[in-house]
Amino acid sequence: MTAISEPALLASLKTTFGYDHFREGQLEIVETLLRGDDAFVVMPTGAGKSLCYQLPAILSARKTIIVSPLVALIDDQVAALRQNGVAASKIHSHQSYDENANQWRRFAGPGAQLLYMSPERLMQPRMLEALKHQSVGMFVVDEAHCISKWGAAFRPEYEALSQLKMLFPEAQIAAFTATADEATRQDIVHKLSNQNCRVFVKGFDRPNLSLAVLAKEKWKERLVNLLEPKRGQSGIVYCLSRKDTDDMAAVLSAAGFTALAYHAGKDGDYRRDAQNRFMTEDGLIMVATIAFGMGIDKPDIRFVIHASLPSSMEAFYQEIGRAGRDGAPAETILFYSLQDFIKRQNMIFDGEGEGEFKLLEYKRLEALIGYCEATTCRRMSILTYFDEASTPCGNCDNCLDPPVVEDYSAKAQAIFAAIQQTGQFFGQAHILDVLKGAQNAKIRQRNHQDLACFGALADDPKAHLQSWMRQLIAMGAVRPNLARYGALEITELGAQISQGDKPFTAKKPKASSASVTSKSGGRAKNTSSLEGADDKLFQDLKALRLEIAQEKNIPAYAVFHDSALKDFATLKPQTRAQFEEINGVGPKKLDRYFEAFSQAIALYVAAHKNG
Ligand code: ADP
Ligand code: ZN
Repeated sequence: MTAISEPALLASLKTTFGYDHFREGQLEIVETLLRGDDAFVVMPTGAGKSLCYQLPAILSARKTIIVSPLVALIDDQVAALRQNGVAASKIHSHQSYDENANQWRRFAGPGAQLLYMSPERLMQPRMLEALKHQSVGMFVVDEAHCISKWGAAFRPEYEALSQLKMLFPEAQIAAFTATADEATRQDIVHKLSNQNCRVFVKGFDRPNLSLAVLAKEKWKERLVNLLEPKRGQSGIVYCLSRKDTDDMAAVLSAAGFTALAYHAGKDGDYRRDAQNRFMTEDGLIMVATIAFGMGIDKPDIRFVIHASLPSSMEAFYQEIGRAGRDGAPAETILFYSLQDFIKRQNMIFDGEGEGEFKLLEYKRLEALIGYCEATTCRRMSILTYFDEASTPCGNCDNCLDPPVVEDYSAKAQAIFAAIQQTGQFFGQAHILDVLKGAQNAKIRQRNHQDLACFGALADDPKAHLQSWMRQLIAMGAVRPNLARYGALEITELGAQISQGDKPFTAKKPKASSASVTSKSGGRAKNTSSLEGADDKLFQDLKALRLEIAQEKNIPAYAVFHDSALKDFATLKPQTRAQFEEINGVGPKKLDRYFEAFSQAIALYVAAHKNG
């Protein structure tokens, strides 16, 4: 349809977005859409999907409708586009009737070529009728997995979108998602497209995310220590309960961090304000339940920490995926305990739904336990689960500090003996007490001090016993029986180990498990540090950016990304030409911000000459 050469596309990339090169995969998708073909794109979060349709939409002479499920996402996208001088309209329920009418007029007239809205809005008969009189060239469906019942997040309001191909046979469809397995992919293409649809699947890997798992002991204290070198960075700490969320936010605030608690128990105004602060300010830590996160496309989230176990491998990967969308290094840590695993199990089996569904959920949880107990590369454990081939990553705790695996069959046999001799009737806490030879009421009541296994592992630290038990559960040798309040039972595999027919090899417990992330933490810290940039100047520029963003009520990153500010702080550009050299500076932003930023840099340079 519109054939544009590669150099011309690169030039448009710079003039509209200020970027010097395409990211992997982007050029091909842009070319496909400009040719007039349909496209379905599966790319991980942060890969840069938006630009793949925005650039063709801007370059084509026809109009584009972008369907997006969340108001916050629409607002951010439109704000970022406007910062780049692209006239985009948006219609949604948080705007007044008049404002929506106004936005429509801009789109229907020559004012704006792009219109963002929710699927419900689009599929209203009046809207569809009105669009028939516009020359709509392309419909973009963001979060396209929501259309499929096979996917992890079906939304009924997406289903109606399958009428688009019939209602607008002339228009192209471009659909995007970060998650869709093979069945979901086929379903999406079938529902949305009836012409040449090219499918692009870019894989799941997010190499810039470091991965680490820590045993959950004294986690509040350790979390504060872990975050110490990250002062000034934005991040999310996920907790399971509202109480933990409030407590942890208080602990962090007391330690001098800017931290907010976010959960469904807070009222709407508070939540909107908290989210807004997180999006616009720098260095804010959101301590949240999973109520927070959908629609957060802040590019510079530097860490996502799970204070307790997520519900499944899928949920975990989606939640950590919110970190490092800008491609710069970001850190993920998961605190893991047997209690949390049992809690999650209970939530599945006490929850609603069919037995079959529960079993599926349980498998997804088990996959995550496998990740937690992995003794080899954690990224490989994730990617294998998502059916993607991979090699050791060098950016997870197990790669950086490979655990030593040893034979602990004798320890396992002692644990089995304790479970057996107490009648497979007790949870891990009591089994542990028996093995340690503890003196307490429960032991005395049951006369467990008389058992042969009493005190059998008294010389081993409690943390080691817990680690062996977790690993026995992860491998399926011991199973907590939910109908009996988590009483541990020995499985077939457990019996084989117990009889010495199979060995039990496990990670050698570390002297201090804190050392697990000190390496990956150190690494992430180094790579995200300023490398030649002037830190004081960088902070000044960030402050300036925040001031501008707050005045305009737009996210800070919509002014400039961190990466551009870092380049400013390193290269200290002072002329327009020098500014324009920097990745992320296009002509519009140059016009808008050259003066303010060049002045700040000039002031800084002058002050440092004299001082
Ligand atoms: P996705 O929708 O795939 O999660 P986004 O479209 O939000 O990702 O892009 C992630 C971030 O990367 C955004 O902040 C975007 O501005 C930035 N980005 C996209 N393409 C490029 C590029 N070619 N060069 C530099 N930054 C880019
Ligand atoms: Zn690894």
